[in-house]
Amino acid sequence: MSEDRPAYHIKPAEGLDDLGINYICRKQYEWGERMGWHNKTVLEALALIASEVGEAVNECRGDAPTPAFGEELADIILRVADLAQWQRINLAAEIACKMAKNEERGTRGRRV
Ligand SMILES: [Mg+2]
Repeated sequence: MSEDRPAYHIKPAEGLDDLGINYICRKQYEWGERMGWHNKTVLEALALIASEVGEAVNECRGDAPTPAFGEELADIILRVADLAQWQRINLAAEIACKMAKNEERGTRGRRV
């Protein structure tokens, strides 16, 4: 965890601050299954991701993000992870490919 993060961030338990994204996808999906919450469509799942983005926006309406901002970012990731696992998308591979693709695109004329 970076030393320049605000003090309100809680340090996660040992070993839980660097989880692989595919592990997160599996665990989140398994949890959703246990809860019986996988009775939605892909569009509903996307709408729920958007609702978490809205919650994150609300945590940033003041001069600085609130202490709850990080939790809302986590909600966004968890909902994306659940959807990826459900749709059998290898999110780690997709992220790695997209980062490589972005790297090849360069700055597209913008100053660095
Ligand atoms: Mg939320």
